[in-house]
Parts: sequence; structure tokens; C-alpha cells
Amino acid sequence: MNAPTSITITPVFVADLSVEGERMPVYVHVIDHPDARVLVDTGMTELHPAMADMDPRLKPLSEQDFDLAGIDIVVNTHLHADHCGGNHLFAGEPIYVQRRELDDVRSEDDYTIREWVEAPGVQYVPVDGEHELLPGLRLVPAPGHTPGMQMVVVETGGRPVIVGGDVAVWFGEFDEPPTEGRQRVLALDPELVWLTHEREPWRPPTV
Ligand SMILES: [Zn+2]
Repeated sequence: MNAPTSITITPVFVADLSVEGERMPVYVHVIDHPDARVLVDTGMTELHPAMADMDPRLKPLSEQDFDLAGIDIVVNTHLHADHCGGNHLFAGEPIYVQRRELDDVRSEDDYTIREWVEAPGVQYVPVDGEHELLPGLRLVPAPGHTPGMQMVVVETGGRPVIVGGDVAVWFGEFDEPPTEGRQRVLALDPELVWLTHEREPWRPPTV
């Protein structure tokens, strides 16, 4: 069984936010797999009073040269508002998320912007733990930033590549005491890790 080697990952800038006086980018990631085109997280498409203090500047997927209809599968790493605000653009497509994450949204107030999660027509596929989405492409729980977070691990034939969402919000978090999620990242010995809020992928330091 050979892992596909023709999988490519492309970051797409969709917004930036103000955090502690600095602009923090928001990227989503497109994974082109021979069997399907997968979108990891969906960014934001509109402003909301709950996020006003972050002064979002938006470049929604729906307002850039992006083929929405070409996406076959959506994955949410987690359901914070800056990761699921575009879910409504994919009504009718399967959106894979950990069941724990969905449960937390539905039971905890102020967890996220709930009407973005529950937008009309949005259909979730709740996942319990690890799940092979496509050959060489699997969802792996990565608790830490939220208890229900997951990441996408892509087999490349060599060391895996990870689309990690907020497994680390910024590179410096890899130097902090590891969460369960970051322990899993390190254990996988990835070639690189794409993050939502960093322009470049993180590479583990070489020994
Ligand atoms: Zn985030």
C-alpha cells in the first residue's frame, strides 16, 4: 500500500485579526488529493459584534478567485469563529469535525459564534477520534487549544505533513509545555506543520 505522493497543500489568506496590537493572519488550507479536494477550515465571511475587539479585515473565500464548487470535503480543525465563519459557503458538503468539538459548541455559551456553526444547510460529520478521510490523509485528535481540536495528517511517502489549525497559534507555542496535541505533532516527526495563523509552515528543529 503506497501513500499517494501527489498530494499538494495550498494556504489561502482569508483575514487578519488584531491580537495584542499586532495583526494576526488567518489562513485556510486546500489539500489537493487525487480522489478529492479538501478544505481545512473556512475563515470568516462577515463581521460580528462578538469579534469587534479583534478588528477583523476580511478577504472571504467567496470574494476572491476561489472555486467554492470545486471543494468536495471540508474539515474543521475546531469551531472557533475564525475557523468556521465560512462553513455556510459549503452547505450540502460534508464537514468533518470531532464530535467533542460539536458537543462543546452546543453546550457551552460563548464558545464561538453559534449561528456561524449552525448556519442553514450546514451538515456535519461528527468524528470520534482518529479517522482515515482518504488514502494517506487522516484526521487526528489534537486536544489543547480546544479539547475537541483535530489536525489533518498527510502521508507524503516521506515524513508526514500536518495541517494543524491552532495546534500552535504561533511558532513560540512549540517551545511551551506541550499540549497533548503538540505531543502528537512531535511524535509524528513531521516534515512541516501548516498553522492557521502563521504565514510559513513550522519545521521541527533539526538535531
Ligand atoms: Zn484560530
